[in-house]
Amino acid sequence: MIQPQHTGGRVNVLTTPEVITSIDELRSRLASARERAVPGDARIVLVPTMGALHAGHLTLVRRARSRGDIVVVSIFVNPLQFGAGEDLNTYPRTLDADVAALAEEGVDFVFAPTSQVMYPAGAASTRVTAGAVGALYEGAARPGHFDGMLTVVAKLFNIVGPDLAVFGQKDAQQVFLVERMLADLDFRLALEIVPIVREEGGLALSSRNRNLDPAQRLAARSLSAGLDAAASAAPQGVAAALAAAHARIDVQPLVKLDYLVVVDPRTFLPVGADHVGPARMLVAALVGNTRLIDNVALDIP
Ligand code: AMP
Repeated sequence: MIQPQHTGGRVNVLTTPEVITSIDELRSRLASARERAVPGDARIVLVPTMGALHAGHLTLVRRARSRGDIVVVSIFVNPLQFGAGEDLNTYPRTLDADVAALAEEGVDFVFAPTSQVMYPAGAASTRVTAGAVGALYEGAARPGHFDGMLTVVAKLFNIVGPDLAVFGQKDAQQVFLVERMLADLDFRLALEIVPIVREEGGLALSSRNRNLDPAQRLAARSLSAGLDAAASAAPQGVAAALAAAHARIDVQPLVKLDYLVVVDPRTFLPVGADHVGPARMLVAALVGNTRLIDNVALDIP
């Protein structure tokens, strides 16, 4: 942490993060912050987000704060990862509130570029491709989503040069694909993954939850309830876990299930009925027009 700052005998414990929109400016501010912090040995930690921050994001930020000297939170609603007809234009944007929340967490820099800054020539024509796993589950519902996500994450890693990046387990397929990109493209940074933060009643926190009306929000609890039931049924095998989750989710008329699948965490491919060992159940559903995802680890003995 570069702060607290000593100003005339007072110590400012809460400092407003610097909000930076230009790549060159961020790079030069980070270079001097590195020197000021711990000369020669400052760790930069990056938390990539799309803003509209909630307690889940702030848990990632707290983890970042505890792991490094300089914490950068990026806020960028990346057009490359939204398909035609998706919610790019209506995705919540709450920059002032986000910066205020990040000030409370002692964040040093907020990188909030425009699309013009990130993609000056329009949509990047060079892309990172997510491969076969990128076309499954979220990628099947949202073609090109993971190519767009990996492309912006690679750009952010190159812009910020972090030693560590913090992601949430909520986006399990994203975590798998980012980990693989690091290995495949020889990025030199570590990842840290934070468990899913849930509201009371189990619904995983998401920026999109604010689009749910009260009845939808209640119905959406069936997703985490289904995953909990699956984890309890896992000792009886994959089919029992799937049946337990379906029993909770399929009875909710407001919840339109997109996929419910059990994957092998090593390959992210669906497991067979005879699978034993660690697995992960993934779920996605539409509640009204709002797409929600969730997941849970299963242990199948
Ligand atoms: P987003 O702003 O949705 O792109 O999310 C930014 C980061 O926050 C991603 O790494 C997400 O996985 C993580 N995240 C979002 N919601 C949660 C949550 N409820 N619990 C843990 N991490 C989360």
